[in-house]
Formats: sequence, C-alpha cells, structure tokens
Amino acid sequence: MSLNTLTATLTSNKLTLPVAVFGMMLGLTGCNNSSTTEESVDAETTAVSTEESVANDGATSTDGQTITIYSSRNEQLIKPLLDRYTEQTGVKVELVTDSTGPLLARLEAEGQNTPADMLLTVDAGNLWQAAQQGLLQPVASDVLAANVPAKYRDPKGQWTGLSLRARTIFYDPSKVSADELSTYADLADPKWKGKLCLRTSKKVYNQSLVASMIEHLGEEKTEEIIRGWVDNLATDVFSDDTSMLEAIAAGQCEVGIANSYYYGRLLDEKPDFPVEIFWANQGTTGTHVNVSGAGVVAGSDNPDGTLKLIEWLSSDEAQGIYASSDKEFPVKEGVDESEMLRSWGPFKKDDINVQKFGELQTQAIQMMDKAGYK
Ligand code: FE
Repeated sequence: MSLNTLTATLTSNKLTLPVAVFGMMLGLTGCNNSSTTEESVDAETTAVSTEESVANDGATSTDGQTITIYSSRNEQLIKPLLDRYTEQTGVKVELVTDSTGPLLARLEAEGQNTPADMLLTVDAGNLWQAAQQGLLQPVASDVLAANVPAKYRDPKGQWTGLSLRARTIFYDPSKVSADELSTYADLADPKWKGKLCLRTSKKVYNQSLVASMIEHLGEEKTEEIIRGWVDNLATDVFSDDTSMLEAIAAGQCEVGIANSYYYGRLLDEKPDFPVEIFWANQGTTGTHVNVSGAGVVAGSDNPDGTLKLIEWLSSDEAQGIYASSDKEFPVKEGVDESEMLRSWGPFKKDDINVQKFGELQTQAIQMMDKAGYK
C-alpha cells in the first residue's frame, strides 16, 4: 500500500489504523494501568463487545454531528441522558462501553487517530489518571465554572465531575444502633472485631477514600486505621459493593462501607432491604464524596461540540435525570434530588478537592498493601 493509499484509507475510515494498533498493543503489552484490574470487576460496567462497538461507531464517526464517547458507565443509566441531548440538538452520540483500564489503553494506542471525542468514567482517581497519561485536553468553560463547584473539577480544566456519590457507612439496624457509629476511623476500633465487611482495596473507590484519609489524618494514622479495619473483618473482602451490602442484609456482618447509589438501586428492587445508611464523619471532615465525570479526549476532531455536550450534562435538566435514574447526587447545587435521596437526609460532605484522590492514589495503594488490606 502506497503512502497515498494509506492516507486515503485513513481519511475515509479513520478506524482502520487505530484498531490495528490497539490490537497490537493489547497483544504485546496487556494493560498496565493501575485502574485496569479493579475496573474489570466493576459491577457498573456492561459487557458490550469492543469489536461490535467499533463497528457501530465506524458507520457514523466521519459525520461532524456525531460525538463518540468512550464510557465506563452503565449504558442503561447514561443512554436516556444522551438520547435527550440528541432529541434537543440533532447531534448524534455513539457510545463505546468498556471498563476504564481498557478504554484508557485504547485511547493511548489510538492517539490522535482516535474516533473518541469524550471520556466518560467514574472516580476522580480514574479521571486524574487519564489526564496524567495526556489523554485529555484542557478546556475553559464559563458554563462548567458556573455549574460545577471547583472542588469537583480539574484545576487545569482537563475533566469535570458530573455527578456525586457518597462512600459511607451502612449497617444492620437489628444489631447496631446509629448512636454507635461515627467515623471511618472508628470502624478500626476493636468493638467491631469480626463485624466489619469491606470491598477489595483493588477498587479505585477505596483507593480514593484512603487517599482522602491520608490527606486529612496523615500517613501514620491512616495506616493504623487500615490495620484496624483488616483486624475487624468478618470475612474476606468483596469484589463489589452490592454483594457487600447483601452480606450485611444476610447477617454475615454488621457494618460496611459502600457507595450510596448501589444502596439506592438495591432499595429500588427491594424497598424493605434491611440495611440502613449512616453519614460518616459528620462531626469531623464530612462524608467522603467522589464524582463521575468527563473530559474532552486529546485527539478529538470536535472539541467544541464535545464541550457543549459536557456543558449540557451539567445543566439543571441533565442533573435532575442523573439524580432520579441513577441514584447519584447532582454535582450542581440547587438541583432537586430525588425522593429517595432526600429520604436519606442532608449531610455534610467532605470539602477536599477530588483531584487529591489521584495525587495520593499510589501512596494509598502501597499503604493498603503494606497493612494487609487485600
Ligand atoms: Fe460504581
């Protein structure tokens, strides 16, 4: 194939080269990103075939009015939002769904030839990682500055939070009274010996929680707490939050830590699910909150159109849909929460800038490993 033919091939179908390169990268290097393995067990991801998504994507990605999103979010949760945007603007949106680790590896392999315009994923730790790898481009947006508090955005403008989730304490009300609960640190007290359930430390959500504790309490104190948690475990760590919550309901443990929306989804299915939520650290730093969010991909052909979609996702209308269909909290202040979220009562949120979770991620991983938290 001459260079001219290759150029023509790339112009007419920009996926040809990236897919080949991506396949090679996977074969040769595998995935070495720290968020890869934990995301691959994320209950939030759906098993959409990569090949299939690329094929679908290839049909429309040359159209300037199509925005391609690489997303680790559950397609069922995010699709209604995107359909609404298409309805209002005529802009088509293509979703390529996979876990965060593979999506980042793919963006890296595809470079400037990527069909992706937007990365949509969970946890500031993942967004920070994508920015560190140079996969996102900085944007300046008055709309995002107005809609999203600064603590939920990258100071350099490479990503923004679009929804909030609280990682807090859950308990079995038949065995524990709310008066006995207070902080994440208190779960290290010997009074909880054999009563605590935790999700694996390989999950970025726990890495971010521990990063926030390092920021607030220092390394030494945090390590002591993690050792206490490990000592108190009722059983092996869980691969996901939902099975951990179900273990509390089944009486296997009395207390645990999980993200609020997993609890919300369980309550949707079983309104009498016998587990209660407790807002951690109300007398101290506030409950740990994290974001799901998005950034414009560095190799996007349509950064302006992509930013418009991200801005729309921060609007009152989109924020309301996040809260009602996904059981997440709006990132924009003053947007109505769903009835279920309101029923959990108001709570003080940790004020930390979420990008700290990325900065302290390596330290958090090493510490949990050292403390024997699997
Ligand atoms: Fe999740």
